[in-house]
Amino acid sequence: MARSSVFGVLLWLTIAAQARAVEVIRIAVAENADLLTVEGVGLQIKRLGESGSYEPVESGRIRVLPSERGLVIDGKPLDQPDVRFRATGMLTCARERLRGELEIRRGSRGLVAVNILPLEEYLAAVLGSEMPPTFPPEALKAQAVAARTYAVRKKIEAAGRPYHLGATWLDQVYGGASRETPSTRAAVEATQGEVLTYEMEPIEAYFHSACGGHTEAGADALGRPLPYLQEVECPCETAQSSAWTLDLSPAECRKAFGSIVREVDVVDRSRSGRARRIAITLGRGSRVYNATDFRRRLGYERLRSLDFQAEVSSGGLRLHGKGSGHGAGMCQWGARTYADQGWDYRQILDHYYPGTELRKMY
Ligand SMILES: [Zn+2]
Repeated sequence: MARSSVFGVLLWLTIAAQARAVEVIRIAVAENADLLTVEGVGLQIKRLGESGSYEPVESGRIRVLPSERGLVIDGKPLDQPDVRFRATGMLTCARERLRGELEIRRGSRGLVAVNILPLEEYLAAVLGSEMPPTFPPEALKAQAVAARTYAVRKKIEAAGRPYHLGATWLDQVYGGASRETPSTRAAVEATQGEVLTYEMEPIEAYFHSACGGHTEAGADALGRPLPYLQEVECPCETAQSSAWTLDLSPAECRKAFGSIVREVDVVDRSRSGRARRIAITLGRGSRVYNATDFRRRLGYERLRSLDFQAEVSSGGLRLHGKGSGHGAGMCQWGARTYADQGWDYRQILDHYYPGTELRKMY
């Protein structure tokens, strides 16, 4: 059980008081756009911010551009930085089908489209993007709680800003309503309003695809030394091997490090065995990279995890590794394995986020 603090209790009471019957979230589905088109059956537009009223758009389609003084709506200037849309069915914008309402506002570098919708509907779509919907129900429920907790935390941190989260892997992947399935909706409904807390605060509920056998401490994975992000054992390798090999050509090494590579050595590893610092002898001189910089240079998508062995292959690099993602918090393939073994979602969450408490926010 987590300790409680006075601050935590007050914060929790504040959050719970703010949580209305329908908790709403604001997601940026497009940023820095030169042009946005909004479509929908029964499309309506509200031009005058919060105080205006909705008017029908007969054509069912509107083009929005930024201008010096505000926006240009279907060729007509509007001296105002934002407009809102809704439809009787779904809205379509930035190639996504969206529930709820859409706000388009002029940002400093173009247009920003913000989808405003109930948190629970957002989560049903996030689940379909972040975890295979065919995973067992208890794994999906654990993912629903982790994703809700992550979103609630971000919402608190972003108070007063135009949106709470982006729609990419930098936050949680949100691909609109087309990513919902009956199984993701069921997992969200079964855990409605439930968030993970530590000392009464919603936690930083990081998760990842596969850890390779041991999750990583928050301090090593993300520079977040949080008591509930500890290194724990994980059975994900029994479900599916996460082994991978990455070959980098001499040209790719030149691009990443400015030179071919003559020698490579992982000089420091975390307790779970992931690389912390990598020494590389280059064509001229040598350098030591910290692991996050190393991963950034090779690309987060290409270098799937920091759990690797490295060798030089004729001026290039060959990395043998396992796992996918930063390794902190819940391992999704591990959650699937535990669910197959009969664990319920509470047990799964308790394993990956030790010391936390599950609380119903609404
Ligand atoms: Zn794992």
